Amino acid sequence: MAAMTAQQAKAIAERYQRAVELVEAGKVFRLYGESGRYVVVNGNGQAYLVDVDSGQCTCPDARYRGSRLGIPCKHALAAAIVHEAQKEAGEPTPQPPAEEEDTAIAATMRAAYERIFGSI
Ligand SMILES: [Zn+2]
Repeated sequence: MAAMTAQQAKAIAERYQRAVELVEAGKVFRLYGESGRYVVVNGNGQAYLVDVDSGQCTCPDARYRGSRLGIPCKHALAAAIVHEAQKEAGEPTPQPPAEEEDTAIAATMRAAYERIFGSI
């Protein structure tokens, strides 16, 4: 593994803090039936799709700054935190029953996810 620069360490520390806040705020949602795939909702309500295994996220930070610095974005980190907690627990974290509207949103996000990651 290449040595990490101070700039990278600082960027990761900042994103990790934001990621913990997203997890604690309940903004990370596992996609049903999709191992390692999550939807993370930003503070402004924007949803991004994350693949934990590859570290891919659909947000601008991951596409531009993240790839330039070679670090994951806060959404990818937040999804990784939840993913690893679930693996340690040995079973998925129970989620509250979805409202009808939530189910429609989940279907929309899932379709968007498949469009983005399914074509790679
Ligand atoms: Zn992201």
